[in-house]
Amino acid sequence: MTSDRGLLQQTIDELDDVAEAVHLDPGIHTILRQPRLQVTVSVPVRRDDGSIEAFTGFRVQHNTSRGPAKGGIRYSPHVDLEEITALAMLMTWKCAVVGVPYGGAKGGVQCDPSTLSMPELERLTRRYTSEIVNFIGPQKDIPAPDMNTNARVMAWIMDTYSVDVGYSVPGVVTGKPLSIGGSPARAAATSRGVMIVIMAAAKQLGFDPLTRRCVIQGYGNVGRNLAELLCEEGCTVVAVSDINGGLYNPRGLNITELSRIMDETGSLFGYKDADRITNEELLRLPCDILVPAAVENQITDKNADQIKASVIVEAANGPTTYEADRILEARDVCVVPDILANAGGVTVSYFEWVQGRQFSFWNERETNLKLRDIMEKAFSRVYRIGQQRNVSLRKAALMLAVERVAEAIQVRGLYP
Ligand code: NAD
Repeated sequence: MTSDRGLLQQTIDELDDVAEAVHLDPGIHTILRQPRLQVTVSVPVRRDDGSIEAFTGFRVQHNTSRGPAKGGIRYSPHVDLEEITALAMLMTWKCAVVGVPYGGAKGGVQCDPSTLSMPELERLTRRYTSEIVNFIGPQKDIPAPDMNTNARVMAWIMDTYSVDVGYSVPGVVTGKPLSIGGSPARAAATSRGVMIVIMAAAKQLGFDPLTRRCVIQGYGNVGRNLAELLCEEGCTVVAVSDINGGLYNPRGLNITELSRIMDETGSLFGYKDADRITNEELLRLPCDILVPAAVENQITDKNADQIKASVIVEAANGPTTYEADRILEARDVCVVPDILANAGGVTVSYFEWVQGRQFSFWNERETNLKLRDIMEKAFSRVYRIGQQRNVSLRKAALMLAVERVAEAIQVRGLYP
């Protein structure tokens, strides 16, 4: 959840709110308001024309009381230390909500990857890795893909780290290519987690998801896999979109056909059996379940009162602003928050890490069953807290996370 106040301030404000609600020990509250480690590094890279450019890279670990730090690495011109710190804190909460034994981390390099050739991207990745090599490791801090990074980038990080220590260390990153220990279930894991949460919410709220209309904003990794999974389950997806706009058919879209067209043309808009709409119109469509699966700040105080869905499931990180959240709560719209809804990705990353450390690999079916178990338990735990304490699912999820992290800090004690 974001707002004009900035993501970091917003994240700290939310912690402060919840600290009161769970009677958090003031000392532990002080610890949790700050990251345990912030590293800023210079990343000099030789460009293909022989010139040298120095980029700035970051790695932040928020808290490691429940286990090693875990979090993605993003390449973007907009990355800064504040944003990375806020995202690291959110990772602490996300891991705690689903009960995977990690603390939160995040990293990034301030660069525009679209202006870098593949060899430049590789040199940047390897130099950034070597600058943070003392802070990462399978028992310390495990990076993963995030905005503009992917399995190939993870392979370079793993290789650079492995060269440094002198042997292969698959557990130093997750989201790797399959050939070096990646998980076959990872690509669709976030979407599968969202789908499981939608089904769990339907059960708790007492409606049949097969009779409801779903709208998905974003047709990238998360949005597209989710649309396909929902269709496999027998749900009706009436609208989807990407950055260029959306498609709407109140009778439902043929997702198999849409994905085929997307693969063939790289665009959604070769699909003819639907009306073209804008992303803004998509959010206001008559539907039951709305899944923002694109970028942050989509549901704001400008459109929250026009949203018709009764359930919003946040597949994207931070799609709802603080102000919009208040409006939705007052309107009794059930919002499943990002730290719960999209935690399937980090959960399967955790499975990949466990397998990498044991050099023993599970099949996709086994992975998906374990994912279902964790997501269903996390949802019902959060739902129960929401009911018992009469708070929104967002607040309930954060309360659960903060309590779990606080307990770990408490039992470990403060050194010295
Ligand atoms: P992606 O880049 O593969 O896809 C993003 C999609 O959103 C694309 O279809 C793009 O066209 C669309 N989009 C971009 N800007 C938009 C805009 N302004 N309006 C409407 N649509 C827009 O990214 P992804 O991996 O699918 O991630 C989507 C969201 O899910 C992000 O918020 C990400 O942080 C979050 N998330 C992803 C994962 C994961 O495993 N990939 C895990 C947790 C959270």
